[in-house]
Amino acid sequence: MDENGFPLLGQGGDERDGQILLKNANLIHSATILRYTTVTMLPILREPNPTLRQPSAPFDLQTLLQPETQTWLDELTETMQVADGIGIAAPQTGTNKRVIIVQTGEGPKAFMNPKFFSASLRKVESEEGCLSVPGVYGIVKRHKSVKVKAVDREGKKIMLKADGLEAIIFQHEIDHLDGVLFIDKVERYTHPSRL
Ligand code: ZN
Repeated sequence: MDENGFPLLGQGGDERDGQILLKNANLIHSATILRYTTVTMLPILREPNPTLRQPSAPFDLQTLLQPETQTWLDELTETMQVADGIGIAAPQTGTNKRVIIVQTGEGPKAFMNPKFFSASLRKVESEEGCLSVPGVYGIVKRHKSVKVKAVDREGKKIMLKADGLEAIIFQHEIDHLDGVLFIDKVERYTHPSRL
């Protein structure tokens, strides 16, 4: 058992084992944390799952600087990276808190309680997929650029402007915090094309 009382699985396994475990994570237990070598994997929930559809509660900033929270942010980031994602939202790993990880130009960053401050009128079509809806891709209309208010992992209030792919990731991930998936907004599927 680890410090959170979760059983440890996959300890000492290699990366290939970890990826196999990731694929089967939804079959094991939603609260199981999979560990192997230096990377800790959180299970990624797949649609349909009620946790993905539940609006997330504000993240309690009082807990942000606690070592367990910082470790959890690392785990969320590592889970995204190992799964080859460019964004992930906490509810996708079973935690209904308003926290997202976004792959920015400066690497992956955690954002607590992100909110749109403004969004461009201009929209773009983006082809999206989702770690929680594997194998499905489709076209979604998104704002071309957004301004986002959030708290960073050091506890600093920030406001940032995102454009292009980064703006799309913010919109996709913040949707997750409201229980919304890209398949709810898709205009047409690109793969499989006949969904
Ligand atoms: Zn997603």
